Amino acid sequence: MPMRIIASECTACGECAALCPSDAIVEKRGYYSINAAACTECDGIAELPQCLEGCPVGEDCIVYT
Ligand code: SF4
Ligand code: SF4
Repeated sequence: MPMRIIASECTACGECAALCPSDAIVEKRGYYSINAAACTECDGIAELPQCLEGCPVGEDCIVYT
């Protein structure tokens, strides 16, 4: 299942997009979102989703779906 960004919590810092190994995080008009079709939950790459690990806001901002 892909991860999801809660837009109301996101500060648009861009950290998650820089860390995503799948280029699944896109920025459009200042808002970041995760392309569900491209997100692998970092399966086989890292133990935890790298976007969540790097997000300064954390679990309130990037959630499991
Ligand atoms: S869980 Fe991994 S693949 Fe999915 S958006 Fe986050 S960093 Fe990218
Ligand atoms: S790291 Fe967190 S706060 Fe920064 S753009 Fe990504 S989801 Fe938003």
